[in-house]
Amino acid sequence: MSARGLLNAAGLHPKKRFGQNFLLDESLCVKIADLVLADAPEAIVEIGPGTGALTAALARNGGSLRALEIDRDLVAILRERNDLSSVEILETDALAYDWPERRCDRWHVAGNLPYNIATPLLVTLAQLPRGPQRIVAMIQKDVADRMLAAPGTAAYGSLTVAVANAMEIRRAFTLGPGAFYPRPKVDSTVVVLNRRARPLVEPIDPSLFEKVVRGSFAYRRKTLANSLSRSLSVERAEILIAMQAAGIDEDERGERIDIATFARLADALAGRGL
Ligand code: SAM
Repeated sequence: MSARGLLNAAGLHPKKRFGQNFLLDESLCVKIADLVLADAPEAIVEIGPGTGALTAALARNGGSLRALEIDRDLVAILRERNDLSSVEILETDALAYDWPERRCDRWHVAGNLPYNIATPLLVTLAQLPRGPQRIVAMIQKDVADRMLAAPGTAAYGSLTVAVANAMEIRRAFTLGPGAFYPRPKVDSTVVVLNRRARPLVEPIDPSLFEKVVRGSFAYRRKTLANSLSRSLSVERAEILIAMQAAGIDEDERGERIDIATFARLADALAGRGL
């Protein structure tokens, strides 16, 4: 039965606060699931199974599948579905989930993600030391654009760097609002993130690296030196010395800096005891 049919039968309506936009077309679910299954995962975790459309497509290969759903009304629907009896359905908030416990070698994450949690969730999963090998996620198109952006473009920012360091990203396909019930206001994109054999950069102090990246984009109208000085509360002169050591021009802007240069800058600041 369709998501709409299952919700109607249970006397439910889609809940906006949980970002509920259900996929209408079963063949699309199969297309998304194939992007996961093609890489032969040992285990899959689905985020936000909803009424189970994508879950059923993911369950086809009979492997280990765990689904995390926050809405207890939908958990009840999922647990009643005979075709999902092999799926471990957890009523939980994916943002509060204890991800590091998933420690088999090849585990994947899939989901038509609720838009309000997509960004923090993908950053968390990308940065997990023993994180998923592959993530296949339906997200807002503009978030996908930001993750895929090149330095020097308007969409390039701290999200691009946070995810791209650990994961190689590609756009699989984009869908208009008509693919969902109810219709969202924006287009959606399915992205495939594959874990790199090694991160692009391994800064001396990863938390300083993160602060430097975020601080570099905090004031987009300012130069890198001014933005960083203000957001890190460090003298501009100190920042300029580190920038020089990292080979960055004095009047450079954050949005033009690539990930390797950010790492050199963070290491130069770490070397100066910051
Ligand atoms: N997978 C279904 C589909 O494609 O038809 C539903 C996708 S819907 C965009 C997002 C789903 O995530 C909803 O079922 C919603 O209740 C659930 N959800 C929202 N916030 C969540 C959270 N923090 N943790 C787990 N699930 C969440």
